[in-house]
Amino acid sequence: MNNYQNTIAAISTPPGKGGVAIIRISGTDAVKIAAEVFFPVSKKSFADATPRMQIYGNVVHGECVIDDGMATYFKAPSSYTGEDVVEISCHGGILVTEAVLEALFAHGATPARAGEFTERAFLAGKLSLTEAEAVGNLLEAESREQIKLASAKSRSKLTDKIASMKKTLTSILSSTFARIDYPDEDLGDFSDGEALKMLGEVKISAEALLDTYDTAKAVCEGVKTVICGKPNVGKSSIYNLLVGRDAAIVTDVEGTTRDVLTERIQLGKIMLQLSDTAGLRDGRTSDVVEKIGMERTRRAISDCELILAVFDRSAELDGEDKELISLICTSSAAKIAILNKSDGEARLCTDEISGFDSLLEISALKDGNEAKRKLSEIVNKLFVDEKISLGNEAVIFSARQRASLEKAIRLIDSAIAAIRLGMPEDATASDVEAALAALGELDGRSVTEEIVADIFSKFCVGK
Ligand code: GDP
Repeated sequence: MNNYQNTIAAISTPPGKGGVAIIRISGTDAVKIAAEVFFPVSKKSFADATPRMQIYGNVVHGECVIDDGMATYFKAPSSYTGEDVVEISCHGGILVTEAVLEALFAHGATPARAGEFTERAFLAGKLSLTEAEAVGNLLEAESREQIKLASAKSRSKLTDKIASMKKTLTSILSSTFARIDYPDEDLGDFSDGEALKMLGEVKISAEALLDTYDTAKAVCEGVKTVICGKPNVGKSSIYNLLVGRDAAIVTDVEGTTRDVLTERIQLGKIMLQLSDTAGLRDGRTSDVVEKIGMERTRRAISDCELILAVFDRSAELDGEDKELISLICTSSAAKIAILNKSDGEARLCTDEISGFDSLLEISALKDGNEAKRKLSEIVNKLFVDEKISLGNEAVIFSARQRASLEKAIRLIDSAIAAIRLGMPEDATASDVEAALAALGELDGRSVTEEIVADIFSKFCVGK
């Protein structure tokens, strides 16, 4: 159970004007405070409200009726936070909702921190940390794929998968401890072979889960993508095409884009954090701002996951193009060479462009839609594992989850090695125990307070 002394309140619907707004109150005094502010038209006190029944009434502060609306009581522990919760639905004007909130604060409620309702739900054991993270993703969701990944079904698949791996490890651990502690007892035939088989099964499960990370991350967080190339090859035209509006200035004047522009865009199933960069032209500019821009371009290239290198198909490859190719080759990012201006005469020899995952000929100017379609196809092939059925199976999507899972796999490997080398049983037991703890971190049962605070700080107030 939670040990929160205070009762919190916040507007749970998005800020701004709307038809209806919901104000949520959670904590031991939720009903008491609500009853001092919300007066049912039936004249009964809200303190006698039946759980889960909507009641119509007035919201009053002092002598003043602020609004009329509905209020519902969710009795602990059957509520989102596991505490007593009251939700008041009122009219969605900014001033009205603020006034209702002020009335609640005046009667003892305290403002909820960002994510505090969900944090309380987690601490009350209502949902695991992975589920809470998925709720966070759902709030941020910008695409259908993101909604699928954050859905309740997907969340419970992950919880079940972690629970099943933990169950197998716990069973290995208890059998091993039993053998250590009661060597003379006949405890059935839990052999090394049996332990290896069970550890092998958990390892396969954990690795399959780890394999979902790249796809889920591309869907949820997005792929850091850089458009680069020498000046005038059409970088900004391609950026605008993908962004869907004239965000970057397109001219035939070299050095127009001087800083790195970044936007999130949806391309097929995945999200790109797309950056247009200043054109790279070595030693050809004395402009200080442009030089800084070029330095930022180099940094963006070294720090991204996908490089879209643009070349002018209608001109021969020159020294600057070649320099760009050798710069890109040092990066571990996925690389696509875009041969733009294919509406003109083809002068560029494609044999000279090597080291890319894919080559794509387009005309951003003459056939933008086709260019976008082809690029989407290639990028999705590179980042989406079609074998993963989004929303229907367990996936991990945060770096925190990946790190815990990798740690668990390393420890399982170590336990397997210990058995194979015939090491004492407590060596295996301590690895299995640590692997269990790592899986505990994955579902949030054994993470530190700082990690919990960090995760919930990313939520909005009211959730
Ligand atoms: P950047 O400097 O690499 O960002 O290039 P821009 O996008 O500013 O384009 C430079 C010039 O090339 C502009 O005049 C564009 O209209 C032109 N351009 C861009 N894409 C194409 C294309 O596919 N075909 C042709 N013919 N011109 C293009």
